[in-house]
Amino acid sequence: MDNQIFLNEEWIVAPKTLHLSIMESKLNDTLSVRGIRLMTLDTLLATLFPVINENSKLFTSAYSIIQEKRKDCIVLKETISYPEFTRQVIDFVVYAMKNDVDFSTLPKENPKEIDLALCVEAVEPLFRSHNVISQIRNSNMTFNHVTLYPFYTQPHQQKIIDLLIEKGAKQVDIDKPDFVNFQYFQALNSRQEAEAVAQWLCTQSFNRIGIVLSDPAGLPVLSSVFDRYKIEYQQTIGHIQPNIIFRFLSLVRLIKEKNSASLVEALTHGALECSNRQSLIDYIQHFDLTVEEVLQPFKHVKTVCESGKLQYIDKRNQIALRKMEYEANVSQGEILADLITMLSSSNPYITTFDHFAKNFSFLFEDDKHALLSIKDIIEQCAFEAGETADIVIPYLIEQISLSSQKQSAPIIITDIKNLELPDCDTVIILGLNQRSFPGFSTKTGLFDEDYLSKTALPTLKERLNSHMSYVQSIFYRFENLICSYASGNYEGKGVAPAYQVEVFAQQQNISLKMWPLVHHGKTVTREYQLEPGISQKLFFNDRKLGGSVSSFERFFQCPYQYYFQSGLKLNKLQSFELNSAFVGTIQHAIFENLAKDNPKGYPKTTKEELSLLLDSSFKDLHLLYPKSAKRWDIVQARMQENLMITFDRLNPMEEDTSFTVTHQEYKFEHAWPTRHDISIALRGIIDRIDMTSSAFRIVDYKSSAKRLKIDKVMGGLQLQLTTYLIITSKLFEKTPVGAFYLSMRNLDVTIPRYKIAKKEAVDFDSELSEAEIVKKHKLTGWFFVEKAEMFRSKDYVQGLINDQKVDKRYKFDLLKVEELFTEIYSYLVNELSLGQIQRRPTESTCKFCDYASICWYKGKVYDPLAISDIDISLNKEVDA
Ligand code: SF4
Repeated sequence: MDNQIFLNEEWIVAPKTLHLSIMESKLNDTLSVRGIRLMTLDTLLATLFPVINENSKLFTSAYSIIQEKRKDCIVLKETISYPEFTRQVIDFVVYAMKNDVDFSTLPKENPKEIDLALCVEAVEPLFRSHNVISQIRNSNMTFNHVTLYPFYTQPHQQKIIDLLIEKGAKQVDIDKPDFVNFQYFQALNSRQEAEAVAQWLCTQSFNRIGIVLSDPAGLPVLSSVFDRYKIEYQQTIGHIQPNIIFRFLSLVRLIKEKNSASLVEALTHGALECSNRQSLIDYIQHFDLTVEEVLQPFKHVKTVCESGKLQYIDKRNQIALRKMEYEANVSQGEILADLITMLSSSNPYITTFDHFAKNFSFLFEDDKHALLSIKDIIEQCAFEAGETADIVIPYLIEQISLSSQKQSAPIIITDIKNLELPDCDTVIILGLNQRSFPGFSTKTGLFDEDYLSKTALPTLKERLNSHMSYVQSIFYRFENLICSYASGNYEGKGVAPAYQVEVFAQQQNISLKMWPLVHHGKTVTREYQLEPGISQKLFFNDRKLGGSVSSFERFFQCPYQYYFQSGLKLNKLQSFELNSAFVGTIQHAIFENLAKDNPKGYPKTTKEELSLLLDSSFKDLHLLYPKSAKRWDIVQARMQENLMITFDRLNPMEEDTSFTVTHQEYKFEHAWPTRHDISIALRGIIDRIDMTSSAFRIVDYKSSAKRLKIDKVMGGLQLQLTTYLIITSKLFEKTPVGAFYLSMRNLDVTIPRYKIAKKEAVDFDSELSEAEIVKKHKLTGWFFVEKAEMFRSKDYVQGLINDQKVDKRYKFDLLKVEELFTEIYSYLVNELSLGQIQRRPTESTCKFCDYASICWYKGKVYDPLAISDIDISLNKEVDA
């Protein structure tokens, strides 16, 4: 560059923070500033030694060169194929170039250092333009027209300054100001610190304020608080990765792999736009479609459902599946043309770029910038064909991050390393605690401190000194300075202030104060109550409250949950899946089928007979999901094994009683009067009703062990079993003996090695073990009679003592229970009439609640309600 053209100019090189004050002082001396150019050191160097920005091309070349060295490497053969290896080598080379290091002096004391030197020396010629020091030294330029002001000097910058001075530049000193208008604050935590600064800014008048974060990780909290206060700001820190990067890479993968997994990934990222991509994803995954099958119209579910062959998958699930298929069809139609283009392409990057470029004007601004960066990368790397481009291009695309800089606002947010704050009246430094400040970090990775200590690069001590002198200087740079830190983290743990700010505050004789913080607004307490009129419309129909007993139990588990399910009728929209409910449906159907033909002897069913029944039960799954046949076979085999074990324990249980299965899946509708003018319209299906010539009992199949508990019955949480018995007692002219749960689950039973009987240790032989298993699997429930002669022993049902007498803890008065339930149902009607839908969850209800994500309840768990004090026990006692 011709040095002569600058001779009539004065160049002032200074940090941006000083530009305004330098300009002001120049204008004090003269009326105009003609011929003066203010610039930073980086601008000066870029003007003198411009560098063409071809980083991606250089990276690709460096990657190829390094791969060629693989055969000569001793220990890094495997590592060098990773693009991150190339990244670290390039960073080191550029750093060494800036410091004018002689690469022939790099350490080669061990195999790793020999390999590193090999790679570094191979790529070093690509980055020589970064060696500004040697370029200045070897040029015949003079710098008499340059005036240098002090600024952040890393060791290599100091070398450049020394060279410029050697070649004629002048350096001026800036005296430390005698007085700094300084304030020093603390807050309880980072959020309160941000809140306090926002409130402070709202009360000040200023032209321009700089906010410096000691820890840039505090940016999201500060931005969210500023956004809430509607404070306009610009920022020089914070990078974002636009969403288009992930969409782009997922499409590239789809074109390369052409399989349904990569198609699902592309759909998940939104790379192929359609109205209901989740349905399409669900459909592909549900039916395990190949990518070729995705190109065909979807009609499998329609065909199977219309065939009338499905027996166990209920109508609701069929409707959900058909809805999913319909929506998947619509979405498939929307992406079909693009998908065909992708699948027929052999040029992933160009095809993907064209896909997004055709809608360029509809993209978000960040996505537009990112797409242009992607274009640069593709153009710069495409010269390197094949494997290298395939590894390097995705790596470089993943590295794209855009500065989230917002322009033209009176508040500028930055961090300590980027302390370029032009024209600021005041600077606030936040987060000055011992963890974030002074913020010097040592080098790690391939070129760590150990490696650097063997080179001619600046030593750790030199770098630390340079950093500390910079850090000290920031307290004297600004006329109005506020320093602040949070004295604790969000868990309440204490954090100490930075030593340097404490010393500075002492020197300035300023004491620490709490940020004044105005707490405004009131905590919102929401009323979980409906207008009675709305509640009536939601829950009642023609002076009736309809539903199943289990839906009413849900009210007592949590009224708010009942409101969602029975009031708003919000149900999870999920398509059919193999879950415990479907397994339960099949097991119920097996029991029903077997007991219909052989009410007493159904547990004697042979393995072969059961296998035939299971074959027909699993037919639905095979029809709907033919590709998962192996899975269904495994599930079926496991179910068969379990059921045979269940039958083995049910056989003696059935033989021990004169009850016989009489009704199964017994449907009922019943109006239960309440103390109000609204009745309960109950409907439901009773699993099983067993009878003798004069008595009957209710049996409810359960997939796990369950017991009736008095506090839960009294609190409305266990209404079902006994409600069934009360209703059927009005239908059959027989004695209602009891209501029981029968667990289909085969429990793990721990068999001890011996038991103590009459002070003697008795070994647990097979008979005792068998008895232990039977004991763990008894029917559980309540009796409503004094004596239950229909049981031959007390072995298979809980609550019997000697001579078929019923233990008083399991014996209740059915009429009194009916009276209790009338009170409970009256309470339910009354609460709903008043619109009471409080969040009042009982034990574990929130854990299994489908509405937890819209409720966000964080309070306590409630005990069951005490609605009535009726004594429901049978008064005549039989001692245990
Ligand atoms: S999350 Fe808990 S409190 Fe909320 S509705 Fe569900 S059960 Fe009730």
